[in-house]
Amino acid sequence: MDEESLAHRVREILNTGGARIVLGLVALGVIVFAVVRFVGSDELEGRRRAIRERGRRVYYVCKACEATGEARVGYDEPFPIVCPKCGRREAVMGFKCVGCGRIIEKRSEPVYRCPHCGKVYDNRAGRVPVAP
Ligand SMILES: [Zn+2]
Ligand SMILES: [Zn+2]
Repeated sequence: MDEESLAHRVREILNTGGARIVLGLVALGVIVFAVVRFVGSDELEGRRRAIRERGRRVYYVCKACEATGEARVGYDEPFPIVCPKCGRREAVMGFKCVGCGRIIEKRSEPVYRCPHCGKVYDNRAGRVPVAP
């Protein structure tokens, strides 16, 4: 095969099959892009799953040993949770009192007070906490 006929063949490919090759490359590019996007979203989903499995951070108040603090619980895990201090499943959901900053038990009563500073929480308003 001499150079001239090679050049001729290349020119022939460009003239006839060139458009098809470009289209083919574009299609390939689209596929690669889609695959990369898919893998990327899969990775994101995996990260989301990891976050779900790690759970959420909650404040807890243990009814057994009166320990308070922050714990990680699974999103599906019901309260009371296992107390990280004493190991008993008696830790109920708590929250940080806006009055004194201590972690207190979240209660379902219509109205209750922070046992530490007396701040009033009113569940009837639908939101906790509200102004006294
Ligand atoms: Zn405890
Ligand atoms: Zn308080």
